[in-house]
Amino acid sequence: MQMLSKASSSMASVTCSKVRSGLCVWPGLRQLCIRKGLEYGLWLLSTPFKTLRGASRSLRVAEFCSVSNMSSSLQVELVPCLQDNYAYLLHDVDTGTVGVVDPSEAVPIIDALSRKNWDLTYILNTHHHQDHTGGNAELKARYGAKVIGSAIDKDRIPGIDIVLNDGDKWMFAGHEVQVIETPGHTRGHISFYFPSSAAIFTGDTLFSLSCGKLFEGNPEQIPTTLKTEKACNPFLRTSSVEIRQALNIPEDTNEAEALGVIRRAKDNF
Ligand code: ZN
Repeated sequence: MQMLSKASSSMASVTCSKVRSGLCVWPGLRQLCIRKGLEYGLWLLSTPFKTLRGASRSLRVAEFCSVSNMSSSLQVELVPCLQDNYAYLLHDVDTGTVGVVDPSEAVPIIDALSRKNWDLTYILNTHHHQDHTGGNAELKARYGAKVIGSAIDKDRIPGIDIVLNDGDKWMFAGHEVQVIETPGHTRGHISFYFPSSAAIFTGDTLFSLSCGKLFEGNPEQIPTTLKTEKACNPFLRTSSVEIRQALNIPEDTNEAEALGVIRRAKDNF
């Protein structure tokens, strides 16, 4: 499978209302390198969630920026929106089903869909903020797409059709989607986890080396999420055997030196 994503050159502004949706991806993928992907919330999970334990693959430098798992028929494409934001198009190759995650505006999504001659079946919202749902109404009207979001935010997500709760499993064209409640940024924030594609859309909850502002939640809620950051972020895992092997870092290299190697690997994307 070939991934198509491509980052724009727009610069990030990591303030709350302008932050971009987070996408976590799993190693074992090959794709266009998105140099600024990590700053832009593109995540590489080098440690699996429980459900994926044992399924990890070797982590190579070239895979840091990947956004597609080659074994999956799910394609993910970034669509630049607003000045400094992204939505994500999901495309199931087998069925042609298309979804969009957090469309802040409709026009760039319509343009992207038109270029590919794709229809739109689903709109997935991680939370209700305008820069994640601004395109809902127009896209729904144009394509008849179903809007999916948190039950907690059902009164705040425009056009919502399908409400989901923590622990729910929803199917996107044969791909299981696990709903993980990630409150803090907003009380109804959820993340969409695609185990078979090793991708998780974390919205405004979690960014690389950062997290979303606590608009409606408390610090106790966010550390639960940050445990994942600690488990996944390569820069916080300098002692990881997997990462060291992937980057040819000798066992006796201290953590500071290992961090330097990991950092340089990212610098050279
Ligand atoms: Zn937000």
